[in-house]
Amino acid sequence: MADKSSLRDYRGKRDFRRTSEPRGSKRARSRRPIFVIQKHDASHLHYDFRLEADGVLKSWAIPKGPSTDPRVKRLAVPTEDHPLDYAGFEGVIPKGEYGGGTVLVWDTGPYTNLKTDTDGNEVSISESMRSGHVVVSLDGKKLKGGYALVRTGSSDSRRWLLVKMRDDGADARRNPVSTQPRSVLTGRTLAEIARDESD
Ligand code: MN
Repeated sequence: MADKSSLRDYRGKRDFRRTSEPRGSKRARSRRPIFVIQKHDASHLHYDFRLEADGVLKSWAIPKGPSTDPRVKRLAVPTEDHPLDYAGFEGVIPKGEYGGGTVLVWDTGPYTNLKTDTDGNEVSISESMRSGHVVVSLDGKKLKGGYALVRTGSSDSRRWLLVKMRDDGADARRNPVSTQPRSVLTGRTLAEIARDESD
């Protein structure tokens, strides 16, 4: 039977007999929605920014990773929805498979949707994505406070920008992408994860 869920693209790109990434059969929902940022050493090192919404993880690839400096805009390119249990995935995707390379959970925690309409009602993440303007507050171990994801150009543009909002979580002197490289789940670096899996 054809896979009609929003995870069809995700599953179509992967051979689950070869990769240990989750297939995403569970549709469990956590009580507070979570975000996760995974550092992914694929053909190009990048960070995958994911937000739980509608039972999946809405995803963007961020080549340079997030900044805590509100003056810095980071390119964010939308990628396919991922299953919720991907938020706990850390390991090595086999070489030659889609996204082959090492994945590390760089930051995770609950988030709050900050987007409201003129009446003060919450605007859903999927509606915010359609309008090209997502605003969330992250409660992670490394990242705190507001972040905006803003689509640039026309409505079919795949070019978004991730920008830190000016609040208590903003700090232009921090550079956590370089100073805090380890997994928040296991304390490991990418090299340590790769080594552990080759044992
Ligand atoms: Mn990736």
